[in-house]
Amino acid sequence: MRVLIRGRKAVSLQENLQKAEKYLKRFKDKPILNHINGQDMPASDGKTFEVISPIDLKPIAQTAHGTKADIDSAATAAKEAFQEWAGISGVARKKILHKIADIIEARAEEISLVESVDTGQAIRFMAKAAIRGAENFRYFADMAPTARDGQSLYNESQINITSRKPIGAIGIITPWNTPFMLSTWKIAPALASGCTIVHKPAELSPLTARLLVEIATEAGLPKGVWNLVNGMGEDTGRALTEHEAIKAIAFVGESRTGTMITKQGADTLKRYHFELGGKNPVIVFANSDLERAADAAIFMIYSLNGERCTSSSRLLVEESIYDEFTLMVVSKAKNIKVGHPLDPKTVIGPLIHPTHFDKVTSYFDIAKAEGATIALGGEPVQDIESNFHGNCSGNCYVPPTLFTNAHNKMRIAQEEIFGPVLTAIPFKTEQDAINIANDVDYGLAAYLWTDNTQQALRVSDALEAGMVWVNSENLRHLPSPFGGMKYSGIGRDGGDWSFDFYMETKNIGFATKPHKIPQLGA
Ligand code: NAD
Repeated sequence: MRVLIRGRKAVSLQENLQKAEKYLKRFKDKPILNHINGQDMPASDGKTFEVISPIDLKPIAQTAHGTKADIDSAATAAKEAFQEWAGISGVARKKILHKIADIIEARAEEISLVESVDTGQAIRFMAKAAIRGAENFRYFADMAPTARDGQSLYNESQINITSRKPIGAIGIITPWNTPFMLSTWKIAPALASGCTIVHKPAELSPLTARLLVEIATEAGLPKGVWNLVNGMGEDTGRALTEHEAIKAIAFVGESRTGTMITKQGADTLKRYHFELGGKNPVIVFANSDLERAADAAIFMIYSLNGERCTSSSRLLVEESIYDEFTLMVVSKAKNIKVGHPLDPKTVIGPLIHPTHFDKVTSYFDIAKAEGATIALGGEPVQDIESNFHGNCSGNCYVPPTLFTNAHNKMRIAQEEIFGPVLTAIPFKTEQDAINIANDVDYGLAAYLWTDNTQQALRVSDALEAGMVWVNSENLRHLPSPFGGMKYSGIGRDGGDWSFDFYMETKNIGFATKPHKIPQLGA
């Protein structure tokens, strides 16, 4: 089968394999270096760690394992570069960020293929990763010239004028699931606002972060503005969150890592932006377009391997249509192809790592023990045909899975599984649906299917979620706020909300008449 991907000619698995081999060769030949103050360098103690592809669990790269001293050099470089970068005009920053987007687009094929092999995410989704990353840079590039704008606020005797200033050097810590897109989402607004950065990518999929820093260098970003230090969370990441020169941490990852980072950064009084986990409901009322609702629910849980913070992992269905709707989901989802991520027909590739596979598949037994029914999937996929590195025998392949006969107190309904695993729960009334939807620790996204406008307004207002999509899957709109409530996060990305995080707001009050000043001691 050949598939047409935007900006690329039609491709097949064989072509993708050949191209991926070509792009990955450089990583096999030489270790991935850190990038500090404009220089590529190994870790200060020379140590590296191995990166494997989830396709077959074979090594694809060695990566510098950054030390505390490396973090210190990178944070110091970012601090020193800050005055110059913040001082240049927004128009000049805009130009460089657009240049980064141009080069990302020019290297889109390489980025997509490398990302797919590194993460196990299917190429049909990763093909858009580079394009979306470029869009992030363009969007925030265009906002750079007005990023410092403020307001004027009047009262009787004073005019208050606000302005914004970039906060300083930022630590950016990203997860493994869609690393390229998520990194650009954080880095683009940080740079547009005038901040400098130290990026610590996820140790399980660090390859495209290396491509990104090369692109930024080629685009003419001054030295020290963008530093890259690879390593593990508990040492390299920790050192970044504790460093005095780092003013704020933009973090995407698990909720429990967010709580650790809060503690680690307490002594240096960090500002935090957290995008964390989710257990997002999709609520389907009997009056809605069931075909479209099923397609959207399937897309939101089984695309990106279900390794997606906004996945619709709880399916809440009105009781009267519960059996019909869950059968519809089974009949559509059973055709989803699990396989080699570079095969254009594949929807679900391998999960990122055997430890994550063990976590996801442990919920198959948990579901049975809790009394739920496994209506689809529920067994690892053993017979994956492949030919990358000879075969793809790794144990990381999980089929689309659906649990039915579930209720919201079960662990399969409360815990973030982060795989292609959906838990379907019936509800009786609108209030039941709201109660069940809100009865979790998380509050990232919610999806709602109804043909009744008043119901849509009532329910969406009552849901405890940072983002609600009505009669839609997740469609990202960069000017709109993205982020979660409760254990799903702190702060919002997108539009001006991003600048609220990366910038300080300053207020200056000007007296407009000689108002009465208290005369103490007169
Ligand atoms: P993780 O929290 O294990 O790791 C994320 C990053 O944090 C990695 O770079 C890791 O090295 C680093 N890290 C780990 N411990 C650290 C510490 N003590 N100090 C500093 N850094 C540390 O998350 P993950 O497993 O890579 O990613 C999956 C999680 O990310 C899921 O929970 C998912 O929901 C969440 N996520 C959220 C969003 C969102 O927008 N809300 C988007 C994508 C992923």
